[in-house]
Amino acid sequence: MTTSFIPKTLEELGRDLARLPEDSLILAGGTDLVIHMHSRHMRPQALLSLSDVEELRQIVITPELASIGAMATMAQVVAATDGLEDLQALAHAASDVGSPQIRNKGTIGGNVANASPAADLPPVLWLLNAQVEIMGPGGATRVIPIQELPTGAKPATILARNEVLVRFLIDRTALKGWRTVFYKLGHRSQVTISRIGMSIAILQDECGIIQDARVIVGAIKPVPYRLPAAENILRGNRPDPELGPRLGETFKGNTRRVYKEEAAKGAFANALARF
Ligand SMILES: Cc1cc2nc3c(=O)[nH]c(=O)nc-3n(C[C@H](O)[C@H](O)[C@H](O)COP(=O)(O)OP(=O)(O)OC[C@H]3O[C@@H](n4cnc5c(N)ncnc54)[C@H](O)[C@@H]3O)c2cc1C
Repeated sequence: MTTSFIPKTLEELGRDLARLPEDSLILAGGTDLVIHMHSRHMRPQALLSLSDVEELRQIVITPELASIGAMATMAQVVAATDGLEDLQALAHAASDVGSPQIRNKGTIGGNVANASPAADLPPVLWLLNAQVEIMGPGGATRVIPIQELPTGAKPATILARNEVLVRFLIDRTALKGWRTVFYKLGHRSQVTISRIGMSIAILQDECGIIQDARVIVGAIKPVPYRLPAAENILRGNRPDPELGPRLGETFKGNTRRVYKEEAAKGAFANALARF
């Protein structure tokens, strides 16, 4: 029989994390985990649900900081960030996840903890240099850069069994003047797994010329990574889709899948068209 832990506060969560047995799972929106549990006939000794910890759902955005609780759903992330130029890539990525049903249940924490190379939110969180707060047994917390979040795609989560993601923190002062976009290339236009996730941040001068740029690509390697060649293409230019083909040769060697070398140019162009 499976024992359920359903904490209601962060304090209770910390206490429950300390009581979890070895064979336990953490449940957020369940859009991935429940499918895995059914298909693999998993019957853990304990299941800890994060659903009732209200603080984990909170999104607070000030001019200085964006704090996004790990249990915020994709739909909530879109509602909170759409229209904010520095955080627009988050809205793009979250609005591209699955179907409306998935976006109403699936959480930002689950998307990251899942550690899927094809997940849509991680490249954007890397782009924004997000920090992630992690809680361990007893409620002790630590904050680390998203890029340091340990990875290892299997099994389903990247964290220790008794650790949870609490919130993502984005320093908006460091993003002042920056605009960001995300474009996902999949096999079809909707409810599709990402084959390339192109996220771009640019800082333009008053004439619209790009002074600085950051480009992070997802769904090519096990974790997102930076593409300096694409950043060099952008600097000194306007964000014009015509720059897409210039990615050309520079993308070779990034992937063993030849079609992705070609497709990356289109993804770059389509992302630029979103500015
Ligand atoms: C039809 C369908 C379409 C989908 N489309 C997309 C898509 O387009 N893009 C995409 O990126 N994903 C997609 N997904 C995958 C999934 O829906 C998302 O990754 C979602 O964000 C997962 O969040 P969740 O809250 O449902 O996580 P859950 O299923 O509850 O959990 C997933 C894993 O993360 C762990 N976990 C969850 N939250 C935490 C936390 N706070 N701390 C520690 N561990 C945690 C769980 O233990 C589990 O191992 C799709 C899934 C389905 C079924």
